[in-house]
Amino acid sequence: MAPKPRILLVEDESGIADTLQYVLATDGFTPVWCSTAEEAMRQFQAEPPALAVLDVGLPDMNGFELFRRLQALPGGSQVPMVFLTARSDEIDRVVGLELGADDYIAKPFSPRELVARVRTILRRSSRVNSAAVPAPVLPTPAVSAPAIWLLDEERRQIRFYGRLLELSRFEYGVLRMLVQKPGRVFTRDELLLTVWGDDNDSFDRTVDAHIKTLRAKLKLVAPALEPIRTLRGTGYALSEALPETIS
Ligand code: CA
Repeated sequence: MAPKPRILLVEDESGIADTLQYVLATDGFTPVWCSTAEEAMRQFQAEPPALAVLDVGLPDMNGFELFRRLQALPGGSQVPMVFLTARSDEIDRVVGLELGADDYIAKPFSPRELVARVRTILRRSSRVNSAAVPAPVLPTPAVSAPAIWLLDEERRQIRFYGRLLELSRFEYGVLRMLVQKPGRVFTRDELLLTVWGDDNDSFDRTVDAHIKTLRAKLKLVAPALEPIRTLRGTGYALSEALPETIS
């Protein structure tokens, strides 16, 4: 198996960094998070990453300056770099791209979108590198499709083919259990006990009702698929036969 491409993530807001690290790791990358420019330069010197994501507003230096300095380090000009910025004005975009950044992403952004762009840039740059120079060639970026399910327990969110599902507390609880073990059959009792707790006065049909609304929400994303299987008389399981992508 090819080594996972290392992505240097320079971002001082830990909330954003956490989300990005999670999504990158889920997608087959190795994120390396630094919250300051100084730390980023150290990391970069220790081992240049496959790609760097630079926040423009850093505490010790702006991202543009950091970009210039990283470019000047050994191997720096070969590493694709993407700017992240909270400021939505065009100046940042123009400055970033004129400096030679590979892309620019304005906050707020979807983590999925960022990962998709990282993937595209890496694919593009590994093609260019392998055509121009025989070695070294960047490690092959992971080309797996976006995860079918993405569970973010900290935010209590679930994405289905990249789309964020709007779930009630109990819908989230049920789907979370299924997503954690695709194919595993959960009985109604198990779901009731775990999601609703044992002091509930709910019934089997409570589970059925939530499965029904969940299915409706999943249909909005993928109308042709049946992600939740019913095992008559037993319970429910997440289908393991879903396509990797939907059109
Ligand atoms: Ca910042």
